[in-house]
Amino acid sequence: MTETAGTRLICPLTATNAEDLRADMHDARAAGADCVECRLDYFAKPFAPGDLAGLLADAPLPVIVTVRPRRQGGNYDGPEADRLALLAAATDLPGVLAVDCEEDVPPAQRPAGPTILSHHDFETWPDNAAGLWKALRVQSPYVAKLAAKGTCPEDAFAALQLARQAEGKGIALAMGEAGLPSRILAGKVGAWGTFATLEPAKRSAPGQPSLAEMLDLYRFRTLGPDTAVYGVVGCPIGHSMSPAIHNAAFAAAGLDAVYLPLRVEPGPENFRRFLDAALGCDWLGLRGLSVTIPHKENALAYVGERFCDELAVRIGAINTVGLDAGGQLRGWNTDYAAALDALCAAMGIQREDLAELPVTVLGAGGVARALVAALAQYQADVTVCNRTLSRGRQLAEEFGCRSGSLETAETTATEILINCTPIGMFPGVVGCPVEHLPPGVRVVFDTIYNPLRTRLLELADRAGCTTVTGLDMFVGQAVGQFKPWTSRPAPVEVMRQAVIDRLAT
Ligand code: NAP
Repeated sequence: MTETAGTRLICPLTATNAEDLRADMHDARAAGADCVECRLDYFAKPFAPGDLAGLLADAPLPVIVTVRPRRQGGNYDGPEADRLALLAAATDLPGVLAVDCEEDVPPAQRPAGPTILSHHDFETWPDNAAGLWKALRVQSPYVAKLAAKGTCPEDAFAALQLARQAEGKGIALAMGEAGLPSRILAGKVGAWGTFATLEPAKRSAPGQPSLAEMLDLYRFRTLGPDTAVYGVVGCPIGHSMSPAIHNAAFAAAGLDAVYLPLRVEPGPENFRRFLDAALGCDWLGLRGLSVTIPHKENALAYVGERFCDELAVRIGAINTVGLDAGGQLRGWNTDYAAALDALCAAMGIQREDLAELPVTVLGAGGVARALVAALAQYQADVTVCNRTLSRGRQLAEEFGCRSGSLETAETTATEILINCTPIGMFPGVVGCPVEHLPPGVRVVFDTIYNPLRTRLLELADRAGCTTVTGLDMFVGQAVGQFKPWTSRPAPVEVMRQAVIDRLAT
């Protein structure tokens, strides 16, 4: 068995019996892991040192043996002497790369062979992480491991910084959703290893991605010190399709770049702390961000109005941040541009041709605001129809438009109808914001992209209208981000297919 040169992709195995564990070892190898961590504390029955040789004979991958006690977040609650005897026996076996021993075991009782000296904290990222790390490394001739709960991407950056310092002899991970960058970028900073599971149900710690995600989505094998880093900032972020779109685009364009989900809790102070930290890590190589709810306004405030596009400032929100050649942060709103372009392409017109055209916009939230501002900019004749009248009126007045109730949309003559409400969106797919189309309508644009054909668009099809889907807008806003980030044309079809594939899963 040959050992990996770079950062190891370690698959933790949490089977409860020998037969399943051996099957999982083979599955881990087939799925692309470099080694497995056999978590013997998950076994249903007590495990004796004499059983180890049989269990690990002909293991298809190098093995790390771990018997995590309850006090460090594991399942083992038997006698400590038996546990340590098991670890000591494991170090002598062929195929065992290392054993994992917790740093609270007294030095004299630790196994003699290659040992990952570990510390876990499932509650919080420790204030004294640097001190803890130093102590772990001093005591650990082989590998030091710190795994602690991360509550923000800054904790992940702190973990990566620790792993970097250890120069190939450290594993430092921030657990949980916000800590995911520490797992994905472990290879960028030369960590000894990072963990990825066979499937979500077989996770041994919060936030572990699957092997398939690591290898196919994040292209773990290609990540190195020079990899450019991008990501989407929002909260919640787990559902975002942006990592699927942009990683597929980077792969298709052959770029050394990766795109991460970045969970930042609501609040301008959290956004500021995150971006200050990210830009402060020169080794991170942050090159650009997508920004989604609830940080679009915070991003505009951070970047500064004079460095954002004019209409984005009027809208009061940006969804894209990038760095220009001089290192200056810049902000754009590609949502409105994507919506306008999708609409104009479907109608076969230029933006300027929107002047005087009657348009009804349903909704007065963030998406409606971007569209109303953009349509008003091109002098379309806009009516905002919203459930909460006062909110619709306020938006309309700000951009010199008319307003009405959602119900009046059905009787107000218009040429273009645009739905910016979530009515009809998955899982409420039977919903439709209007029962009848307004008189005179020729074009119907539903900004919803899940499902691709909403009830509203079906109604429009039956009436012979031109239809525009939310998919066109969604792909368009991502395409609009790729260009300023990379100065290259975006692989539009690859990006569109990535969304369609994700929607199908
Ligand atoms: P938002 O800020 O929460 O605004 C939602 C708007 O819809 C509000 O005006 C709200 O009316 C109205 N609304 C919500 N539920 C309603 C209901 N049951 N009946 C009547 N009106 C209702 O949301 P947003 O960020 O603007 O997003 C709106 C939609 O745009 C999303 O649902 C999504 O499908 C779509 N979207 C598309 C893209 C894309 O790229 N294609 C991107 C983002 C979003 P009140 O003012 O009365 O609350």
